[in-house]
Amino acid sequence: MRLGLVGLPQVGKRTLFTLLTGQSPGPERGAEAVPGLAEMRDDRFDNLVEMYNPKKRTPAQIEFSLLPDLDTDAERNRTFFKLLERVDVICYVARAFEDDTVFHSSGHVDATRDIANFAEELELMDLLFIEKRLERIEEVSGRKTDPLVAAKERAALERMQNHLEEGKTLFSFEVTEEDHSIVGSYPFLTDKPVVVVLNVADEDADALPDGLVETFAPRGFELIPVSAKVEQEISELDTEERKTFLTDLGIEAPAIDRLTRICYEALGLISFFTVGEDEVRAWTIRRGASAPQAGRAIHKDIERGFIRTEVINYEDLVVLGSEKNVKENGRLMQKGRDHVVEDGEIHHFLFKV
Ligand code: GDP
Repeated sequence: MRLGLVGLPQVGKRTLFTLLTGQSPGPERGAEAVPGLAEMRDDRFDNLVEMYNPKKRTPAQIEFSLLPDLDTDAERNRTFFKLLERVDVICYVARAFEDDTVFHSSGHVDATRDIANFAEELELMDLLFIEKRLERIEEVSGRKTDPLVAAKERAALERMQNHLEEGKTLFSFEVTEEDHSIVGSYPFLTDKPVVVVLNVADEDADALPDGLVETFAPRGFELIPVSAKVEQEISELDTEERKTFLTDLGIEAPAIDRLTRICYEALGLISFFTVGEDEVRAWTIRRGASAPQAGRAIHKDIERGFIRTEVINYEDLVVLGSEKNVKENGRLMQKGRDHVVEDGEIHHFLFKV
């Protein structure tokens, strides 16, 4: 599971990447993606660490890669879009901060224009792909391919084409199981979730420009304002200073923490916890996973030899203060293999192989 940070030059991608992953690639990073791991910021995890004071703490991580700069010229971006095919969620960074000392590749700041251009380029790439594929089906029809399969593929592609031409993205396209078996492996771009990070000037870190959400929500874009500059300042503070600073700004948590959460959700992921004196750990699983499937994240033997799992709700543990109190209040739950794991549950698996 990978997120790709993309955007025009000088919009704050590298600054965000460094804040997220702790890595600082040079400004000259060439045409390859730079991989990095970001810690999931999660208050619940921090509270559990405080409660158990374990020898080891292992938060959840997500993989971010920093992609090369986009070009203002769509034609020259074609090779760039190849890199996007390998990304599960596109994290598009748009510049909304004004700063005369920072060069802007399109002359002046206009985030709505930049996001719209990017969206159009994604749509165009998918349309081009579909066109080429339709031509190809035409060329080979009557030869090796089964005409029935070819007809089905053509029908699916044409429906996708219409959908795109209506100004919609494949993210909102209903893929039937049959479609999926035919076109599921094609490198479409607009079916990927897009998180737009709006790099705002420090003074209006809470505000999104008017109409932005309404314009891009139908495409499945999720928007979050972040001020890379303010976030950088926050990251340089110690814990106490940080609290005061955040209170002064009137915000609960740094925007970058929310960003990791939004990305995690866009990937369809949740976490559950295991706790103890040795280790407090967050485990990443797909939303909807059953208890044995979740156990596999820890070890495949847990899935294989699954007996049951003892579950504590995070809120119960916080309210009641300790595992002992949770048990005494009858809030420790025994769950079987049909249990669908919810985000934030604390699990203790029982298994036998
Ligand atoms: P990239 O080219 O998209 O990777 O952008 P960088 O992260 O390298 O940032 C480009 C320049 O913009 C650097 O000089 C940053 O210090 C500056 N910059 C990034 N974010 C902000 C911001 O939120 N406010 C201001 N004023 N400058 C920023």
